[in-house]
Amino acid sequence: MEGSSDPRPPSAVRRIGLFGGSFDPVHEGHLHVARAAAQRFGLDRVVFVPAAQSPFKPDQRPAAGEHRLAMLALALAGEPAWSASSIELDRGGRSWTIDTVRALPKAIGEREDCALYLVLGSDNLPALPMWRESRALLERVQPIVIFRDGDPAAQLEPLRAAQGDELAKKVEAGYLRLPPVRVSSTAIRAALARGERDVAGVPKAVLDYICAHGLYGARP
Ligand code: ATP
Repeated sequence: MEGSSDPRPPSAVRRIGLFGGSFDPVHEGHLHVARAAAQRFGLDRVVFVPAAQSPFKPDQRPAAGEHRLAMLALALAGEPAWSASSIELDRGGRSWTIDTVRALPKAIGEREDCALYLVLGSDNLPALPMWRESRALLERVQPIVIFRDGDPAAQLEPLRAAQGDELAKKVEAGYLRLPPVRVSSTAIRAALARGERDVAGVPKAVLDYICAHGLYGARP
């Protein structure tokens, strides 16, 4: 039923969600966040971008990029508007979000002037002023901030002090309160390393992949 249900003219700016992270491994919390963000902000598309090396997790050695991409492909298989991009893995080294934001539209066949929404957990807020070219980044994207632990108003203060009220307000406009999904990649890796087999919060196909490849100390 091509084009019959989309009320926007063809020239309307497309809304693209950029969801960056380690995805080591991807879990139900990530999927829940993407679903809610897409719904609330009317995203046409969500692109999950696994980092080669997070600048803020320098000591963490994530699973190989090919495994994290393969797990994302399995987790996103049922969502036609979602995909994973290897743009940061291909670039290698530390993954600076501003570089990704500049390169992503062309890499995924979108117009340069598409609307970019940066999906992130509120635990990232305190460090946001330290992200490379933080001001340029926040001018280009609309952040979508998912509440996690802590007080988001207090977590925003360093950004307000560094970048001023206007950008802090822009970040606030992207706040999204969700019922918390208490799952993290850290907890999943720990459970697998303890030898647990039925780890909650991981899509079944991803868990099968982890076990088949013996990732995170899981036994095949
Ligand atoms: P780790 O435990 O290894 O630090 P993580 O589970 O936090 O990983 P990441 O891949 O680092 O997952 O997260 C990518 C993004 O998703 C981050 O912005 C993070 O805040 C957010 N996120 C991860 N898990 C959740 C969750 N359960 N609820 C809301 N946001 C989440």
